[in-house]
Amino acid sequence: MAALARPNYVRVIIDRAIHRELDYLVPDSLAPQVDVGSRVRVPFRDRSALATVLAVLEKSDARGIRPVEAIVGDGPILSTQLLELAKWMSTYYCCPVETVIRSLLPQVVRKAQVGWKKQLVVHRTRDIPADEIEKLRKRAPRQAELAEAINGLPQPKLAAALLRQLSLDNQALRGLVKRGWVEVREEQVARDPHAEDHILPTNNLALNPEQAGALRIVTEALNAPDTARPILLHGVTGSGKTEIYLQAIRGTLDKGHTAIVLVPEISLTPQTVERFKGRFTDHPDMVAVLHSHLSEGERHDEWHKIHSGKARIVIGARSAVFAPLKQLGLIVVDEEHESTYKQEDAPRYHARDVAIVRAKIEKCVVLLGSATPSLESYYNATRGKYRLATLTQRVDEKQMPQIRIVDLRQERRKQKTAAILSEKLSTAITDRLEKREQSILFLNRRGFSTSLLCSECGEARNCPNCSVALTFHRQIARLSCHLCGHTAAVPKKCPECGKDALIYAGFGTEKVESTVSHLFPQAVVRRMDADSMTRKEAYRETLRNFRTGKIDILVGTQMIAKGLHFPNVTLVGIINADLALHLPDFRAGERTFQLLTQVAGRAGRGEVRGEVFVQTYTPFSPSIQFARHHDFSGYFEQELEFRERCDFPPFKHAVLITVRSGHEGRAKLSAETLVRRLRESLGAEFILGDAAPAPLEKLQGQFRFHILIRGEAIMRLSRLLRETLDKLPFPEDVSVAVDVDPYQLL
Ligand SMILES: [Zn+2]
Ligand SMILES: [Zn+2]
Repeated sequence: MAALARPNYVRVIIDRAIHRELDYLVPDSLAPQVDVGSRVRVPFRDRSALATVLAVLEKSDARGIRPVEAIVGDGPILSTQLLELAKWMSTYYCCPVETVIRSLLPQVVRKAQVGWKKQLVVHRTRDIPADEIEKLRKRAPRQAELAEAINGLPQPKLAAALLRQLSLDNQALRGLVKRGWVEVREEQVARDPHAEDHILPTNNLALNPEQAGALRIVTEALNAPDTARPILLHGVTGSGKTEIYLQAIRGTLDKGHTAIVLVPEISLTPQTVERFKGRFTDHPDMVAVLHSHLSEGERHDEWHKIHSGKARIVIGARSAVFAPLKQLGLIVVDEEHESTYKQEDAPRYHARDVAIVRAKIEKCVVLLGSATPSLESYYNATRGKYRLATLTQRVDEKQMPQIRIVDLRQERRKQKTAAILSEKLSTAITDRLEKREQSILFLNRRGFSTSLLCSECGEARNCPNCSVALTFHRQIARLSCHLCGHTAAVPKKCPECGKDALIYAGFGTEKVESTVSHLFPQAVVRRMDADSMTRKEAYRETLRNFRTGKIDILVGTQMIAKGLHFPNVTLVGIINADLALHLPDFRAGERTFQLLTQVAGRAGRGEVRGEVFVQTYTPFSPSIQFARHHDFSGYFEQELEFRERCDFPPFKHAVLITVRSGHEGRAKLSAETLVRRLRESLGAEFILGDAAPAPLEKLQGQFRFHILIRGEAIMRLSRLLRETLDKLPFPEDVSVAVDVDPYQLL
């Protein structure tokens, strides 16, 4: 072996955030196993630390260089492409590269503490002669039965499963081992999180002309990935986007490439997973699934199934964009407008944007799909940066639902109190119950009453840690904070003035459920929100019961807004469309339009045309009117004009800095100091706002101040920010978070 080919030194980044790359010597014994992307254990200060190899070097100028202690795991676990992606993220999102690597690799893989599960597997040593089995039948009938079953096995089988199936015990198996007919070996077995799923194999469905046109655009890109632009598939709800994904993936596999499908966590339902597993039954490990509800063991297995090349398709939530597939050919981002693609902790990345950069690095195709594309993506499509494919029709010529607006101001005059259900909506529910059709009622707020007020002194019960009112939950009979989880007993009298004058105001899904059950005693009503779905199985159960018609009315939060497909749902009621509109957020209008369109899209997926009732106090707001007329382009133009006028994305990038401390004065002072420094370091090309209390001033006991910066040259801005922050010492109890392209402005 040539001496030069051996790595002498490696440059690594250790897992702890020290913002620095370090060089280490590679001992000869470890040299053959070290490569870029390897995980190693190295001495750091007086301890040892885990690290990732960024580069292999022939020499190093560093002084006092120490040797690598050990290699962790087998072989490199990060490809050079993923390392390049990590470096890009670190610069763009103004975040240390070690924090990015922590996101890229699941903890169980980084630390390599969990291994494969070992289980006993039965192997046949040879075909067992039938006459010998017959001879055995009298003396040892159980052994004979087992031998017969083993003879019929097409492949080795888990001992436990085989014995359970035949209701036999270990003794029979031991007997056969003694005869030398079978062997039992301990082997690696993947924990399959979806082993219980019922998978029905499916074939390609026939495409309508619009779908075929869209698939053609994707196929063209797959044939020339080097020059392909990202594709935006804008298809109305029910237009068959998933079928296009499935056929595009088949095309990708046919070229020997692999594919990632990103879906929002919330729509990563068993229904979705089954659909993909059912189409790609080539071998049982074909499709890997990554999401936040996997156990550590399952995550380890799925990750290695992908890394070893067994799985060719990965379907998963946000972090699946980092799936270690080789020969990546296609990344699909379904519901690309979803805000759950944005990670709210460092690194504060957006999976759609990372997907586009990864696609550029790996020279693969990226396909974004949505019924309500984000303003950013649609803007890119209109400017030719993305290719646009449009589906205007639902499959099988199903009609778009009829959307009716109910003016709650008029209802209030009629009913004298804040109505939960307007007359029109309740008549429509009665009608559906008579026809044995199903209804969905949507409200983006959980709990029973949203505040507990004193009618004498006007004080509300607020969370002691956060600047929000506590929500009353009847099921647990307590007040609870939706931001920090603090709960409190319900006081009998007003703690402020001592009067017996407390009233419950506002309502959430819990109250909608109870009102609806009361009004329609003959109906089966179920609720689906974060409170009622605490058990892992509850979600699946409720969906199954709804699909099989055991539930008449489903009440829920955004948990039921997306991706679900129930042919018998003909009515959707949106209890209060105004909730998102009045948030202090430049995306409020966009969110309302998207939510209304998505929720409305749950209606009329079967034979009967759907009907949607939108209850609102602001019936003439543009988002509601455009959603009502299914008018995406009207909404887009109107919203775009507003964004341009106010220097918001997609015209300028925004960066939100949050300065936090348990001490209000120190948070404020630090934020003001930071703004002064930024005025010096940022040029006039950036719009720098003042330090101001965040809309949510106090959260989990921390006082929060915001600084908003806008500008076009985002990479430059990120670099200047990093430099300024590194030079500025903050008091110990003050923390600063930088959010590039923020989604959460509260
Ligand atoms: Zn009071
Ligand atoms: Zn709180």
